[in-house]
Amino acid sequence: MSTQDVTRAPVAKTAVDTFVKTTGSWVATQLEACTRCGICAQACHFYEATGNPEFAPVWKVELLRRAYEQRFTPPGKLKVALGLDKPVTDRDIQHWSTIVYEACTLCNKCAMVCPMGIQLGPLIHEVREAMAASQVVPADLVTAIRKQEELGSPLGVTEEMWEERIEWIADEWEVDIPIDVQGAETLVVFTSIEVMKFPENVVAIARILNAAGEKWTISTPGREVVNFGVFEGNPERTKLFMARLFDAARSLGVRRLVVTECGHAYDLLRWTAHNMTDVPVEITHIVAVIDDLLNKGRIKLQAGKYDSLGPIAFHDACKIQRRGGHIQEPRNILRILAPNSFREISPNREESICCGGGGGVIAIQEADPLRYKVFELKMRQMAAAGTKTITMTCANCRLQFTDGIKHFGLDVQVRGLAAMVADALIEE
Ligand code: SF4
Ligand code: SF4
Repeated sequence: MSTQDVTRAPVAKTAVDTFVKTTGSWVATQLEACTRCGICAQACHFYEATGNPEFAPVWKVELLRRAYEQRFTPPGKLKVALGLDKPVTDRDIQHWSTIVYEACTLCNKCAMVCPMGIQLGPLIHEVREAMAASQVVPADLVTAIRKQEELGSPLGVTEEMWEERIEWIADEWEVDIPIDVQGAETLVVFTSIEVMKFPENVVAIARILNAAGEKWTISTPGREVVNFGVFEGNPERTKLFMARLFDAARSLGVRRLVVTECGHAYDLLRWTAHNMTDVPVEITHIVAVIDDLLNKGRIKLQAGKYDSLGPIAFHDACKIQRRGGHIQEPRNILRILAPNSFREISPNREESICCGGGGGVIAIQEADPLRYKVFELKMRQMAAAGTKTITMTCANCRLQFTDGIKHFGLDVQVRGLAAMVADALIEE
């Protein structure tokens, strides 16, 4: 394909070059298929919460479309030559950086409603890739990325801090947490959010796996499941952070890797990784493991344990339930734990809307006002179901719910599903 320089400045040039580099037949087909009908706007929680037309999914890929048309299509080239279409400028790149990092959680709900089947989430991720190449990434994300690269965790948890923390958790809750066990069957990888902010989740998963007699381990070099390379849109860093996990799995000789509570990590490792590298082990999510252990009778729960808590609702995480497919397992578990008080919020299952904190949004302080605005949608859903407890299988969602509920002063408890399971175990 012949190309034409449609840029005026270095930042824009790098971004447009990246758009062009990543525009293979798949991207081109997606862009060509768009009829500009605007139906996708209604599906986006950022658009729904604010009415801002710039938050319509189709507008978020506008620069990618413009670069594609102007570089590769005769009408696009003609429009530029006649001055009828604007080249992509530095200012555009700066502006779209805010839109695609702060007003998109990469949840891909918009793709569900597009009559042309366009995968907008992955396309918006392509836009982030161009922003990353141009180094126009929000400062808070850059800080977290550097920490993950240099210290091993976006929260800055070094190996030493992690070891101390795991030792403290094991002592404090008197639970066995196997570390670096050669020949274990299952490698469990937590997020540093769980290790540092929700240690009871680490305890819960350890208690469940120990009760089932699972041969499992955690890994010192493969200790962080979160991948900020995905949030940034940087394929090299994405692969680097993934390699830490797969190398650990290989050296321990495990059969499978269990992702605990991180939606984007699960999406990456379960699906996208296969297009980027060799995946040496089976990948699964902890909610599927728990459901399987229950089905096989390897763990038993106190039926109705939480019925006295009042209405309990479940939040479907975009990457674990909608994209990951683990929709039924949490419901199977909740029908044991709270058969009379479990309520569905609406919309739910694959149609659930994002919590508003995914895709790295919760890590960007400038995005806080918008993030709270979007959370109001979840508040309305919880209120309609009379929710007193909300549970979920993603620590990032849990962070968003915990923060949102505190911010708005709601009378709703947030609990991780694994912790509810662990507290209901019948231990013989
Ligand atoms: S719904 Fe699909 S076809 Fe319509 S504007 Fe959005 S991306 Fe384009
Ligand atoms: S991926 Fe999610 S947040 Fe991003 S535009 Fe689509 S619906 Fe909105």
